[in-house]
Amino acid sequence: MNQDGFSRKVEDLQQRLQSLQNQQNATLIRQPRLSTEVLEELSIALEELHVTQEELRQQNEELIAARQAVEAERQRYQELFEFAPDGYLVTDAQGVIREANLAAATLLCVRQHRLVGKPFIVFLAEDERKTLRWYLTQLQQWTQPLREWEVHLRPHGSVAFPAAVTIAPVWNPQRTIVALRWLLRDITVRKQTEEALKQAKEAAESADRTKSEFLATMSHELRTPLGVILGYDTLLLEGAFGALTTEQLRPLRRMNENAKELLDLISAVLDLSRLEKGRLPIEIREVNVHDLLVELKDETQGLQEQSGLSFRWRLAEPRSLLRTDPGKLKIVLKNLIGNAVKFTEQGSISVTVQHCGEGVEICVTDSGIGIPQEALAVIFEPFRQVHDASTKQNKGTGLGLHIVKRLLELLGGSIKVESEVGRGSTFRVWMPSLSKPGKPVKPDQAF
Ligand code: ADP
Repeated sequence: MNQDGFSRKVEDLQQRLQSLQNQQNATLIRQPRLSTEVLEELSIALEELHVTQEELRQQNEELIAARQAVEAERQRYQELFEFAPDGYLVTDAQGVIREANLAAATLLCVRQHRLVGKPFIVFLAEDERKTLRWYLTQLQQWTQPLREWEVHLRPHGSVAFPAAVTIAPVWNPQRTIVALRWLLRDITVRKQTEEALKQAKEAAESADRTKSEFLATMSHELRTPLGVILGYDTLLLEGAFGALTTEQLRPLRRMNENAKELLDLISAVLDLSRLEKGRLPIEIREVNVHDLLVELKDETQGLQEQSGLSFRWRLAEPRSLLRTDPGKLKIVLKNLIGNAVKFTEQGSISVTVQHCGEGVEICVTDSGIGIPQEALAVIFEPFRQVHDASTKQNKGTGLGLHIVKRLLELLGGSIKVESEVGRGSTFRVWMPSLSKPGKPVKPDQAF
């Protein structure tokens, strides 16, 4: 019974009660007590009915409000479904379309109402239909939707295009699939962009290879005549072709210095090219860190003296053993010491060693000009120089730290830097105690 029917019944009851009361007043003399009690009972019951009626009215209002909210929500979802930028379909478990939104109709070039009843598979490229059939037989085993399945959709009367299809089953409480929801997304632009990017990457890699090969060949070709120039220049300076005046010696010395710098650059370019091609020979053996640093100290004696800076070596501990290529590790450390000298006008340089995690950390610290924070990430990139070319630091190739980083990657180590402008820099080289050649190092570990 609805609320109006109930209200009518309550009203009827009230009228009947009223008429009974009127009758009772008329017959009061004949059945005095019984009639009064019955009527009172009836009156209480009627009161309760009034309360129930009020409660029902309230519940009814709440129900109407809830129904309106559900309807508004349904409408909202219908609109979302209808005007979504991607194609949405609802099919039965066999893939026959029951509902399609506007975007799906546009993608498949078929009017919305005409899509209903068609199996979705007819819009799939022939060679992909077998896969869909297989997917549909496996639906019961799905634990999650099939996401972004890349296919080719063949719209009615139009050319196929790449699309990403997501399929989500809808289960009833008995765990039976009652429908499938499909999301169709046109990925033509994405595919074109990916293809363009791939081509650009290939072109860039090819250009990079050509550049590296050119640099390697040029460097190689330059090294021989440069060696001859340097050789004759040295002979001239040594007086092998007769004594020379001070005026004659000065340009020859400058020529010698510049030729050596050029030779360094050429050697660095050649090293890098070998590193990039994986052709740098690595000789791994057991190395005592302490002994290696003592040798390094001796080998850099000339540089230390020329620099006029105070050097501090703390090598006492640890006497750890590393499995590494000592020659390559020395190149790394010499490079760092060379930079420390180059970028320190006055003050000190220290080389220290300590245990660190599963390996050994060798630090080269200087009290030099430092490196701005924003430049710290780029100094390991090839040809990146941070400081002004007008200072004594202008000499260099900008390749040193890049080679250092690449070499350490080959040796399974890493490098970090801390620096403060005007106060100096610390480069920390970490080598694993049992370093293996070629062990890949994650880029984020390297800095
Ligand atoms: P370069 O041949 O110029 O020294 P590197 O690759 O070795 O090339 O270093 C790159 C740049 O990093 C240097 O040009 C310099 O600006 C900065 N740099 C490297 N080491 C230091 C250091 N110890 N102190 C200050 N700046 C440094």
